[in-house]
Amino acid sequence: GEEVEVKPIDKEAFNLGFIGAGKLAASVAIGLVNQGILPPSRIFTAHRNPESRLDFTSVGIQVYQNNHQVAEECDVIIFSVKPQILKEVILDLRPLLSQNKLLVSLAVGHKLKALQEWAGHCRFVRVIPNTASVIGEAATVMHLGEAATVNDGELIADLFGAVGKVWKMDEKLSDAAGAVGGAGTAFASIAIEAMADGGVAAGLPREISLSLASQAFYGAAAMVMKTGKHPAQLKDQVASPGGITIAGIHELEKGAFRASMMNAVVAAAKRSHEMG
Ligand code: NAD
Repeated sequence: GEEVEVKPIDKEAFNLGFIGAGKLAASVAIGLVNQGILPPSRIFTAHRNPESRLDFTSVGIQVYQNNHQVAEECDVIIFSVKPQILKEVILDLRPLLSQNKLLVSLAVGHKLKALQEWAGHCRFVRVIPNTASVIGEAATVMHLGEAATVNDGELIADLFGAVGKVWKMDEKLSDAAGAVGGAGTAFASIAIEAMADGGVAAGLPREISLSLASQAFYGAAAMVMKTGKHPAQLKDQVASPGGITIAGIHELEKGAFRASMMNAVVAAAKRSHEMG
């Protein structure tokens, strides 16, 4: 068909709406306000359950009675309801969702193809953050729909940059990206817990062991990110000849630590593909 001109989103004046005022939406909204990226006067949501308003109202965000008011008021609309009800929520708002509104889904699983069909247009962006958005350290992946412009992508990357790091990529990489960036935080948590258990087995008090293990992971991750060195290089630096580190590494290799971690990621990606 004929190409429809879309109105660019005015970065200085657009209103941002969250449909679904839950945990994830609150973490993003509060991150945006706290980091001065958007004033609370330009963020809107709606909530049926009065108690859950608090997260939003505490930073001055307007909470409406229903989704329709949010959809009317806002230029950028982030759907942050559970995946099971997303379709009915979008279909209900469809008459209000013109091409001049940029739409975003945070729901796990639903592909752009379905989202675009439900909304009736393709100016849609899929964003997959993780739970670390609560502390501003999410690993977020985003996929642009067919009619989302380069500016749309930058705007959404800037918004989610407030609660972590953002990678833009083709949707065909989504399953693998979710397996590393999403499920990966659970795999890392197990590794931290196991290391702390080892400390306890070697005689450390539980609390000290867990703190040391967590900081060791935090430090290792920060070294990789900040020095740009390959993890193998950082490992080699610590492992002196005949020393304690190489003795431990030998055990990790005997236990197939690397293969286990690789298999975990591949299994998560496979499961994600089956669910989509
Ligand atoms: P949540 O249950 O905290 O939030 C959903 C909110 O939607 C609830 O507050 C609920 O009251 C509200 N709601 C229910 N029906 C509604 C309706 N018809 N209209 C408006 N609001 C309605 O869930 P969450 O953890 O914030 O997750 C939200 C979405 O984000 C999900 O689709 C999930 O797949 C996705 N997601 C979450 C995470 C995470 O770390 N929590 C990570 C990636 C993606």
